[in-house]
Amino acid sequence: MNIHTSSIEMFLDAILANSAKRSGGESIAEVIHDGLHVFREFPNNNGVMLFLVDDNEFNFRFSAALPNENNNNAQEIFNVLAQKGSIGSVLSAGKAQYISDEINDLSGFIIIPLSVPSAAVGLVILAADLHNDDMVLLRLCEMSAYQFAYALNNTRLLQRLTYNQIVLEQKVSARTIHLEQIQRELKTILDCVQTGILIINAESGVIASANPAAELQELIMKLTTEITERERAEEAARQALIKEKELADLKSNFVSMVSHEFRTPLTTILSYTQIMQNYREKLTEDDQIKYLKNIELAVSRMTSMLNDILFIGKSNSGALTVTMRVINLFELCSSILDEMRVLDAEKHKIIFKFDYPPSAVRTDEKLLRQILLNLLTNALKYSQSSTEVELAVSHSETAVIIEVKDKGIGIPKEYFSNLFESFRRADNVGNISGTGLGLSIVKQSVDLLGGNIKVESIENEGSVFTVELPIS
Ligand code: ADP
Repeated sequence: MNIHTSSIEMFLDAILANSAKRSGGESIAEVIHDGLHVFREFPNNNGVMLFLVDDNEFNFRFSAALPNENNNNAQEIFNVLAQKGSIGSVLSAGKAQYISDEINDLSGFIIIPLSVPSAAVGLVILAADLHNDDMVLLRLCEMSAYQFAYALNNTRLLQRLTYNQIVLEQKVSARTIHLEQIQRELKTILDCVQTGILIINAESGVIASANPAAELQELIMKLTTEITERERAEEAARQALIKEKELADLKSNFVSMVSHEFRTPLTTILSYTQIMQNYREKLTEDDQIKYLKNIELAVSRMTSMLNDILFIGKSNSGALTVTMRVINLFELCSSILDEMRVLDAEKHKIIFKFDYPPSAVRTDEKLLRQILLNLLTNALKYSQSSTEVELAVSHSETAVIIEVKDKGIGIPKEYFSNLFESFRRADNVGNISGTGLGLSIVKQSVDLLGGNIKVESIENEGSVFTVELPIS
């Protein structure tokens, strides 16, 4: 039977119209509907059936048919054709084939595979007759199948993609909710613990967050630093104040010392000169000599005080110089003791022990004289008449050792720490006169000679000052 050309054209038009219609947004049902209607335009067909490959089982399952009456026996037809091997041969050839119905001698079937290059999508069975010269129709069927298979595959892929996207979104949102929950729990824990915890960004090293305890600790640390700094500043201010007060004390000490210590010899000088002026004729020669001697003593006391002040002044300004030369130590000690005896007017028993056979020593005579004079003057001044005052000179391998001992009033313990500072005087001195400069001069002289000094003293029992000077 020859098929009318206009029928073929209608079939072709349907194929072309369907391909023009594809927009990509259809559902599977729409694609199937459109695809089946195209095949339904095949000339003189008795129906069209669609079998799709089941995704999971790789089976052909009946999907739809036109007209709908074919629904019931579609699977049966498929099974018969499969048993005959027709389905298998179509699939392996990948081309549409016409199978005549020898069983019922009704119209035959055109089996058309639906496939894309990567997979088989399904197949269409068209109940229609086809004669040998209708190869064009077979090709048109393949063309329509090609279009149908692509539309089905794309729609399926798109659906799967959309599905996967939805699943993914759901997973992400579930995960986000879970994470937020964990974060809330963590924050609750962090807020409750007493330990300060800082969360630091590993890459940037910047603090990302801190729990209240950490903030508190940070605050405490800041406050502590602030307090420490303030305390330090206060301490510095206090020290400066103490120094200032010390300086003020020293100044006032100096003024009161000068006014007090200078007044006594000045008064002596004034009174003796007045007596000598007013009563010169009545004074015996001995009296006059005695008064002149007293004036001389007062002057030498003032001179000595002035020298002490000058020494301290020079020492403070770093103007003291050391001139080392070899002297005879025995002679120096003897001459100083002679001076002392004159000043002491034989009130004390002065003992001199000398155990340093070479006698020659390399030193600064002026400084050594200051040391001996001041220590001996104190020993005599701070001990009662008729007690012993001893100067003992001995030596070790490396030093000359000078000891000045007395059995006087001694030095109170609390005074030991600032014994060698200028103007310091212990409380137990009573009305024994002094400037508080002697021991300061001794210490500075010992230092300049590279030696050391120590003192042992018990109140009311006496004192021992020991000076060690290195033998060069
Ligand atoms: P000054 O004797 O003029 O007061 P110093 O600097 O020589 O000053 O001595 C300081 C203080 O040390 C004295 O005022 C005194 O309190 C105490 N001192 C020094 N030597 C003795 C000593 N041998 N015995 C008791 N106290 C002493």
